[in-house]
Amino acid sequence: MSAHVLTLNAGSSSLKFGVFALAEGPEPRAAGLIERIGGSPALHLRDAAGTAIAPGEDPAGATDQAGAVGLVLRLVARHFPDGEIAAVGHRVVHGGPDHAGPARLSDDVLAGLERFVPFAPLHQPHNLAGARAARAAFPEALQVACFDTSFHRNHPWVNDTFALPRRFYDRGVRRYGFHGLSYDYIAGELARSAPLLHSGRVVVAHLGNGASMCGLLGGRSVASTMGFSALDGLPMGTRCGQLDPGVVLYLMDQEGMTTAELADLLYLESGLKGLSGMANDMRALEASEAPAAREAIDYFTFRIRRELGGLAAALGGLDALVFCGGIGENSRLVRAEVCRGMQWLGIELDRARNEANARIISADLSRTHVMVIPTDEEIVIARAAAAMLGEGAA
Ligand code: AMP
Repeated sequence: MSAHVLTLNAGSSSLKFGVFALAEGPEPRAAGLIERIGGSPALHLRDAAGTAIAPGEDPAGATDQAGAVGLVLRLVARHFPDGEIAAVGHRVVHGGPDHAGPARLSDDVLAGLERFVPFAPLHQPHNLAGARAARAAFPEALQVACFDTSFHRNHPWVNDTFALPRRFYDRGVRRYGFHGLSYDYIAGELARSAPLLHSGRVVVAHLGNGASMCGLLGGRSVASTMGFSALDGLPMGTRCGQLDPGVVLYLMDQEGMTTAELADLLYLESGLKGLSGMANDMRALEASEAPAAREAIDYFTFRIRRELGGLAAALGGLDALVFCGGIGENSRLVRAEVCRGMQWLGIELDRARNEANARIISADLSRTHVMVIPTDEEIVIARAAAAMLGEGAA
């Protein structure tokens, strides 16, 4: 029997999973996705090289998270017959104010995390449903929760609070920040490959369907664009990003919108999709001739430049800008637009390197390094689970 770590990322209608061999580090073995859970589920499985493999299991039973986790259990048995799942690492969006690192998912911790369901109603219930299902399916395995909020828990107070009466801060109404697993990975990559930059002032732009930016000082989060919820900061695929709260009051009072309607509007109908009137997908917008598609990209890149200036101010300058996420890692246009006119921050993009999707895309003489680093949230979860296993064994 060889020991493995399973990583799970449970969403509203999907379950992403990864299988990692422990002996090598952990090293990825397979990655999968079950989508349309509760509808007509589909299952995709790839090996570590990214090659699709026939899963050989019928996904029809994945009618909820428990059914989807049961399917993962059968897949593990089929594809890793001599592999034992020693630990399951879970992505959990909200760890609240106290979890500054991964946590063993005991009954108490799970119950505590229920308190943050109202803070992240679109993500937390599904994450916890996945965690409960995995505890039932893999009862012998160590269960570890990794939080998107943990990485930001050392924010200075001015970046942790809103200017509301203090009692709201005490009740948990704070700027938590998200995408922490991605920032953790990038900070680790910088420490490994560019230690001087890691010790300096870095802004990471995680630009995907969800998007945020984080200011790192010596590898630690000092400020980030997402706040109490994953709505704040940059516009995203379907989320609005920064919004005057007066707009919400107006929509409730004058247009009679309910909280459910507002949640739909702000989470699902806004951002690139709302502005373009056509798509949340950057590739589709880049390919479109429609003026509204171009305007949506303009708004997106303008907000990134604004936040970049703000984060550089919070850091007292800038040594490196790192792009990651589906858009950050692939869109030459977005990276070029973000860096346009940013010479005042020491940024000089090298056009050919940017076109080639190189790791360093700034010019040799650029005072600020601009980099593209593919992020990997799953390996952060797998490493955390492996480390906790190691501590348990010690
Ligand atoms: P993520 O949520 O990190 O998977 O990122 C999804 C986003 O990345 C979508 O908006 C995609 O359109 C965008 N994306 C992926 N590949 C490319 C590409 N080659 N050019 C532009 N955008 C891309």
